[in-house]
Amino acid sequence: MDSNGKKTKIVKEIKVDTKKCVGCRACEIACSAFHAVPKYSSVNTARSRIMVVMDEVRDIFVPIRAGDYTQAECNGRNVYVIDGKEYNECTFCPASCPSRDAFKEPDSGLPLKCDMCESVPPLEKPMCVDACTFGALTYVEREEVKAEEEEVKQREVESAYEFLVKKHGKKNVMDTFSRMAKKE
Ligand code: SF4
Ligand code: SF4
Ligand code: SF4
Repeated sequence: MDSNGKKTKIVKEIKVDTKKCVGCRACEIACSAFHAVPKYSSVNTARSRIMVVMDEVRDIFVPIRAGDYTQAECNGRNVYVIDGKEYNECTFCPASCPSRDAFKEPDSGLPLKCDMCESVPPLEKPMCVDACTFGALTYVEREEVKAEEEEVKQREVESAYEFLVKKHGKKNVMDTFSRMAKKE
């Protein structure tokens, strides 16, 4: 709650300073190790939820975190021109999309999405930020007032959860959620 009694939420942000990025890919390594099953059991940057787009000739390195899965290629795209070079429309897109291999689990093809390294117990900062010793990634948490609609949605989710727990028991519900999360 804020001082006016409005419900708030914590927004997690990773600020990217592309000028400080050197393309070392430590962020990709840390992300893939953290999300390996079991945790830290392997490193495979193809499984990372962050990808560093590189143009070494122009000294351009842009870390992109994986966003939502999309079932189809989009129609409206962005073309970036940086230092006179035009980048392909999909280059800086965070989507896990049928048009390319990026942000897909290499064995199963399932989409990968950045989850901000949410875990229990919580990390002080996400793995990619922690691994970036060049200061290109900075983690920021801020409090924001929740939109009315969002509050309604959350109440709906909470009552659906309470209903399921009443019907099937907390353990069964949590086990099912955990199985589903592994499939994501
Ligand atoms: S760890 Fe930092 S400097 Fe290295 S590639 Fe990732 S963002 Fe860039
Ligand atoms: S990768 Fe992104 S920009 Fe390219 S088609 Fe897919 S959604 Fe569109
Ligand atoms: S916040 Fe965590 S999940 Fe997201 S890209 Fe960074 S290391 Fe990967």
